[in-house]
Amino acid sequence: MGTKKTRKFKTEVQQLLHLIIHSLYSNKEIFVRELISNASDAIDKARFKEQTEPELFAEDNDFHIRLAVDPEEKTFVISDNGIGMTFDEVNDNIGTIAQSGTAAFMEALEKSKNETGLSPELIGQFGVGFYSAFIVADKVRLDTRAPGEEKGVRWESDGQGTYTVQEIDKQGRGTTITLYLKEPEEGDQDFTEEYTIQHIVKKHSDFVTYPVIMNLEKNEPIPENEIIKDSEGKPIGDTFRKVRKDKTLNSMKAIWAKAKEEVTAEEHEEFYKHISHNWDKPMEIIHKKFEGVTEYDVLMYIPEKAPFDLFRPERKHGMQLYCKRVFIMDDCKELLPEYFGFVQGVVDAPDLNLNVSREILQEDRLVRNIRKNLVKQIFSLLEGMDKEKYQEFYNEFGQALKAGVPTDFENKERIASLLRYKTTKSGDKFVTLDEYIENMKEDQKDIYFLTGENLTSLMNSPLLEALKEKDYEVLLMVDPIDEWVVQSLPEYKEKKLKSAEKGDLDVEKVDDEKKNEFSALLSFLKGKLENRVKDVVVSNRLKDSVSCLSGDDYGMSAYMEKIMKASGQKTPEQKRTMEVNVNHPVMAKIKEIFETDTTSPVLTDYSDLLYDVAVISEGGKLDNPARFSKLLGDLMSKAI
Ligand code: ADP
Ligand code: MG
Repeated sequence: MGTKKTRKFKTEVQQLLHLIIHSLYSNKEIFVRELISNASDAIDKARFKEQTEPELFAEDNDFHIRLAVDPEEKTFVISDNGIGMTFDEVNDNIGTIAQSGTAAFMEALEKSKNETGLSPELIGQFGVGFYSAFIVADKVRLDTRAPGEEKGVRWESDGQGTYTVQEIDKQGRGTTITLYLKEPEEGDQDFTEEYTIQHIVKKHSDFVTYPVIMNLEKNEPIPENEIIKDSEGKPIGDTFRKVRKDKTLNSMKAIWAKAKEEVTAEEHEEFYKHISHNWDKPMEIIHKKFEGVTEYDVLMYIPEKAPFDLFRPERKHGMQLYCKRVFIMDDCKELLPEYFGFVQGVVDAPDLNLNVSREILQEDRLVRNIRKNLVKQIFSLLEGMDKEKYQEFYNEFGQALKAGVPTDFENKERIASLLRYKTTKSGDKFVTLDEYIENMKEDQKDIYFLTGENLTSLMNSPLLEALKEKDYEVLLMVDPIDEWVVQSLPEYKEKKLKSAEKGDLDVEKVDDEKKNEFSALLSFLKGKLENRVKDVVVSNRLKDSVSCLSGDDYGMSAYMEKIMKASGQKTPEQKRTMEVNVNHPVMAKIKEIFETDTTSPVLTDYSDLLYDVAVISEGGKLDNPARFSKLLGDLMSKAI
């Protein structure tokens, strides 16, 4: 054996181990599921590699998972002849947290802490499955050998902060994990009992596609001619004897290939957990056999809950591709567009070329065809959901769906009809664009919206005053992604989408005479505010407030600018237009001062105030808040 090296677990792993061990005590049996799932993943990978390098597997290509228990030694052993791990892979995969979402994981942990401890769904979601072995074991040994490697690797740990790795001689490819079980606590199941293990496998891992085999003790009738009998021919000794035989514990049913009616809700639930590594339930199920020129089976689940890492770019997609029940790949991004990345499922396409690589897959006509059909299926499911159920879906995945508007030109309109927004009139309810159109005033031509950070500030925005007076409804958009939605959706059902803060609104205009009265003052103000605004104009938007900022039709919205800045992107310095309400008494007063003495210092103060008030009303930040406070203080004392 090679020299033994002792290493420290990464800090996160130590914390994690501590949490796992102390939070999952009520659900100890899940370690079986986690280890079988890893073994099954490892065989998937081996089978995939076998497509291109069959010689590496020629010796041993009867793929299976084996379990063994020993009540005397108090061990539980699981072995597989999957892909195994090289020395480096052991170091990379075990002892760190395999997935990169560590920070997010810790965050989610913090959140779940105030509840009843760490919830089991977290374990699956974050790829910490292997460590679940330490729920029941006080020492874990993992021996593994990758295909084509001469030597194997042994990893050992008591889960107390360090582990050792060393090179070993190992027979056969794959991984064998030995759990040295802790003394059971009261009420614990006995994981060295064959019956218990059989039961757990059936419950959690029945559909695993490879046989999970256990060598079990069985009573077997002794053959007639071997039974010892007395003179009258009656047996004296036993008629049964105990023998050990291999038994496959799981049925390996590919549930997607079964008839729809034959699959029970429990089976779906377990299978969903298996493929998604989540512990919630499916909210909706699509199970269908496509027939026609090509045939294929589809099983898709919409999860009940959005995963914590839904928007992380490194997140895996939920679709797996099979060919005649042989796993080809997971994370199959070619089967569904990005915005449906949360859908979990399987496609089994017998006509697929088994040697497909990811690169070819994109070009494959069959795959494109399948993708189109899957998308259609999901859309009709969503469209057919009842209102409340759909709202639950939308609360979880609405944001993901929105990403489809700018990215899927073909289905843009269809996605748009699935969007929901709160409006100036809807209170707590969400409204679809179709409902909005239905409720439009007779003289209303466009669909109005306003984007911003939160509903309260949007509801009270001065930009909406004229629209409110006309009794026009306005969609309130508070999701950053809405900015991209509206940019790519200039129209819906032949109605223009119009930002309440941009361009000309279709509302009553201030008459020209009044405009002319103010034109001298406005150009004066423009001169004063030159560095900050593009123009100062008479507002048609304002009814009660005195000033606001607006953009032109193609400019960036205030919120968009804020988002860009927050994400550290350079935004082109864009000035917006200041609008003033010439019907406001303050404006009349300023005009009076202006007309008597254009050099009055008060005018500078007022122009600054008009601008600052406009910035504040849209939730923006003042460049010089101290000056604003001073001006306001002066004004207040004058008024008193
Ligand atoms: P996950 O399965 O979500 O990746 P785990 O903690 O269960 O997370 O496993 C961590 C990693 O360890 C796996 O991604 C895999 O690379 C490796 N691994 C675990 N078990 C096996 C096994 N039986 N054979 C090969 N690799 C394994
Ligand atoms: Mg795992």
